[in-house]
Amino acid sequence: MTAQLPLPAPPVGGGCRAAPVLKERGQREVFCGLTGIIWLHRKMQDAFFLVVGSRTCAHLLQSAAGVMIFAEPRFGTAILEETDLAGLADAHKELDRVVAQLLARRPDIRQLFLVGSCPSEVIKIDLHRAAERLTIAHAPRVRVLNYSGSGIETTFTQGEDACLACMVPVLPETQARELLVVGALPDVVEDQMRALLAAMGVGPVRCLPAHRIDEETAIGPNTVFALTQPFLGDTHAALERRGARHLPAPFPFGEEGTTAWLAAIAREFGVSADTFAAVTDAPRARARKAIAQAAAALHGKTVFFFPDSQLEIPLARFLVRECGMTALEVGAPYIHDALVGPDLDLLPAGPVISEGQDVDKQLARARAARPDLTVCGLGLANPLEAEGLSTKWAIELVFTPVHFYEQAGDLAGLFSRPLRRKSLLKLEAAE
Ligand code: SF4
Repeated sequence: MTAQLPLPAPPVGGGCRAAPVLKERGQREVFCGLTGIIWLHRKMQDAFFLVVGSRTCAHLLQSAAGVMIFAEPRFGTAILEETDLAGLADAHKELDRVVAQLLARRPDIRQLFLVGSCPSEVIKIDLHRAAERLTIAHAPRVRVLNYSGSGIETTFTQGEDACLACMVPVLPETQARELLVVGALPDVVEDQMRALLAAMGVGPVRCLPAHRIDEETAIGPNTVFALTQPFLGDTHAALERRGARHLPAPFPFGEEGTTAWLAAIAREFGVSADTFAAVTDAPRARARKAIAQAAAALHGKTVFFFPDSQLEIPLARFLVRECGMTALEVGAPYIHDALVGPDLDLLPAGPVISEGQDVDKQLARARAARPDLTVCGLGLANPLEAEGLSTKWAIELVFTPVHFYEQAGDLAGLFSRPLRRKSLLKLEAAE
């Protein structure tokens, strides 16, 4: 008998893939897509993100990435003044001037992203045309692209999706068989992932985004790609349009998700079960041990997800299957079956699966359910804490390294910390 690559066991009572989805459209409580600049500028070391926006946009970036004031920043805001908003000034001419100034001062910039905002969209500045014009003006030294981070139509993680999607059409063509890993991982996590794949003999492995424009991959019909984030729907579509093939898999959160994600790649590249086991057995055991320690406070507890980061479905799968929680509602801003279908297959049937948001109705459901833990955006967390519910800020899950085996214990710890804090507070109150 030949050994098989590991497949996660389906849930006994069936998964959630065929579950009815409660679709809601109403008031939403989320950050805008500009937030993604905070982690993207750290990853892409020769890029500059120029937001074409208002003072509010500048404040958001400055307060979210305050530490950057001590360094030469790689993001900034071209502020639209009242004359621009009233259509009295030629915003394109002004933008050309600002970009020329910036590039003259900063020879380290090789790729420039013009990032749209609510104000630039309201007054309909055509940033795509501006990017084309500026690319011609500053080629070959600098490539200029554009995407929208506006809060009018995005959740905060869509900023990264829009950024990566706008890069795909300009990547060169190749016939080479390569694995492309898509999603901006912290460097330490990317290194772990590369080491695991290299030990299995999988390669060449490219990453999107790359650290620098010179390291970028080419794409073609023999490219296969694996996503590391469930919010990359537009990037997924753009890659398929270029002929690349997606390897569907659960996302690499927790021991089980990481194993299933690696196994999908291993299957594609013909890695033997023995090699797979030799590479993954030790980190799997470490991950299981770390989760067991960190998740003790989560066993038997209930969790309710408000739609925010788009990580909700894979994280619910992790919390239910590996941390012993029960999911009451799993809300996601968008449910893209091609991306999160494998996670829905593994999430045991039972929770309400909701897509989109009508925040008042959802708050009423959360108050009625009284979950032990509520995962939500910053705007909802404080009021819910005041009502006695324990909360976890969804945005923290994007800013913290949480992927793959070595971070699995930390991921469980992020969820158990609010519950531990609450029991400590209760103890203190009782003394
Ligand atoms: S893009 Fe829109 S939501 Fe985001 S900071 Fe600017 S004005 Fe606010």
